[in-house]
Amino acid sequence: MVKTFERGVFLPHYKKFSEDKPITRLPLPRELVIPLRQHTGAPCRPLVAAGDKVEAGQKIGASDAFVSAAVHTGLSGVVREVAKRPNIAGEMVDCVIIDVDQGQEFPTWPAEDYAGLPVDEIKARIREAGIVGMGGAAFPTHVKLSPPREIDLVVINGCECEPFLTCDHRLMLERADDLIEGSRLISKVLGGPKVIFGVETNKPDAIAVLEQKLVKEKDMELVQLDVKYPQGAEKQLIYAVSGRKVPPGKLPFDVGVVVQNVATAIAVLEAVRNRKPLVDRVLTLTGPGTPNPGNYQFFIGTTISHVIESTGGLQDDVVKVVVGGPMTGWAQLDLQAPLTKGAGGILALTGEVTQVTDYMACVRCGKCVDHCPMFLYPNYIGVYGELGRYQQAEQWGAMDCFECGVCVYVCPSRRPIVSFVRRTKKAAAERHRAATRQAL
Ligand code: SF4
Ligand code: SF4
Repeated sequence: MVKTFERGVFLPHYKKFSEDKPITRLPLPRELVIPLRQHTGAPCRPLVAAGDKVEAGQKIGASDAFVSAAVHTGLSGVVREVAKRPNIAGEMVDCVIIDVDQGQEFPTWPAEDYAGLPVDEIKARIREAGIVGMGGAAFPTHVKLSPPREIDLVVINGCECEPFLTCDHRLMLERADDLIEGSRLISKVLGGPKVIFGVETNKPDAIAVLEQKLVKEKDMELVQLDVKYPQGAEKQLIYAVSGRKVPPGKLPFDVGVVVQNVATAIAVLEAVRNRKPLVDRVLTLTGPGTPNPGNYQFFIGTTISHVIESTGGLQDDVVKVVVGGPMTGWAQLDLQAPLTKGAGGILALTGEVTQVTDYMACVRCGKCVDHCPMFLYPNYIGVYGELGRYQQAEQWGAMDCFECGVCVYVCPSRRPIVSFVRRTKKAAAERHRAATRQAL
């Protein structure tokens, strides 16, 4: 039976550009720009300085905070400088900038025997490798695998519900054994709960491959999910596969569940089996504005421009470049921004698939309320957020909004409600920081 969640929207898929393209590696970049903050939690401090020689896999940033994730370089080279650069969200962040040794071989990490490793050592390897959730949230994985209560269900998120993106689809097809083994390790760390793979029905080939391999796994199963957005959001996914509702303000572990994305599960395996740090990942370069759409493996810190230039550039009719998916991604003004552990896509959009229009006043049609998967009132959040009355926006649930963009998609006035939510959250964080400073 195909399952789903309540509300949400049916979107055009736009997966055809890249869903049949096998994963390929991009050529070596000339430089890596590696942000010291590319995860939820405390930023890293640099462990290197200008002029230092670095080797592939070397840790170049770390933090003593538990909620943080170390950063490494995937390529050898020389540190040019540690300096602020704009990230994909337009914020200035500290980065280690490395002139990459040209002509080097792509690094490899040989497999070790890991069968009898105790749970603490598995977790230590995951933390040391700097693994974060690769579905976009970039939450440190070692933290997620240390929940404060018992977990009886692991959900592996293979929805990839945003239009255009296909990198997780290709990973499920091309690396199904590694995905299953990584998921087994995640379950082992959590005490051995059942594992459910949630996959939308627009990936029938991946479903067939996984179902055939899962036949012999007694505590693993695959659940097919309707192609609806945001099916891959944690709370919606948990409800669809298990019927459990995560209450507002609570987290998946409060209902005994941990969710991990498919790319993260594979990275976990590589960290434990190969001691490979998270130095590369796969993204989907796609859209009608790129001549060579596909699924490309790149090193963390590669700039957007390197990906675009090494795949044939952009067509003249591109009106917008987005990093991430079309619903939750970030429109780019500067193609020199570096790609991080959470970057799953670059979209080259033309006027055929996107609108660049001004927004208008709310006409009180109620469509955003009808479709919001969190049962919020996006209209009020938007109005108060726009006026800078952030505490009232919070009262209407802005902090429970996970920025899926459904309200923006259905709004006839094209109101940028997610931008208003982000402003509200930023104001709340500043208020919290000011209160903390005053209390000290
Ligand atoms: S208010 Fe937030 S959660 Fe609700 S539809 Fe809009 S972006 Fe999604
Ligand atoms: S969909 Fe747009 S116009 Fe309609 S109520 Fe919501 S914010 Fe207002």
